[in-house]
Amino acid sequence: MTGDLDCDRLVELVTDFLDGALDADTERRVVDHLALCDGCGEYLDQIRDTARGLGELPPDRLPERARAALLAAFRALPE
Ligand SMILES: [Zn+2]
Repeated sequence: MTGDLDCDRLVELVTDFLDGALDADTERRVVDHLALCDGCGEYLDQIRDTARGLGELPPDRLPERARAALLAAFRALPE
């Protein structure tokens, strides 16, 4: 069981989670889900690595369009 937060919802919340923008209750649900769900734990690691590596990715690491879309998505996040 993964509690009342499913994987789709976690994916929606993960950028806010990394930004620390979630309320405490929602954040706890995300943490609980991550503790129980290997797939989402890996997903979070990927997002973290991507966010950390933006701007210093080797050019061939991501297709140009995917890279541009990711950059746009992260620029759109509130600081
Ligand atoms: Zn999950």
